[in-house]
Amino acid sequence: MKKALFVDRDGIVNTELGDYILSLDEFTVHPPFIPFLREATQRGYETVIITNQGGIAKGRYGHSLVADCHRVLWEILAKEGLSIREAYYCPHHPEGGNCLCRKPSGLLIEKAVARFGYEKSLSLMIGDKQRDVDAAIDAGIRGYLLPPNPPLEALLSCLPD
Ligand SMILES: [Mg+2]
Ligand SMILES: [Zn+2]
Repeated sequence: MKKALFVDRDGIVNTELGDYILSLDEFTVHPPFIPFLREATQRGYETVIITNQGGIAKGRYGHSLVADCHRVLWEILAKEGLSIREAYYCPHHPEGGNCLCRKPSGLLIEKAVARFGYEKSLSLMIGDKQRDVDAAIDAGIRGYLLPPNPPLEALLSCLPD
């Protein structure tokens, strides 16, 4: 059975700087994420990013910046022999109208589960905000709340033995 490791992006995959990522040079991989992804991959997880990018709705940056960040991320991971299956993002923000996909909604997790056929009971979500855990609960999977930019040990502690 396929199992997924769902990860929030900013503060887990890349370094959280305290504001939206507004340019490509602000997007740097959080160093412990690389060995964490390697361990998760070895344990049979496929990794999927689930991220709110409400700065798009606010006009702070565009879809193209998100695409550029993910292309750079894909390249960095490929050099390590690693990969992420897909990145799903919500570009909306309540200021501009409600949507169904923004975390704490579990919809983007459900979308990935439906597309790739993950077993929910074996899958988990890791994030640095309560809404990440709430999205996991909404989708019916386990969720783990970590501080932003967590050390490797904290990341690994979320993977079951
Ligand atoms: Mg975050
Ligand atoms: Zn949305």
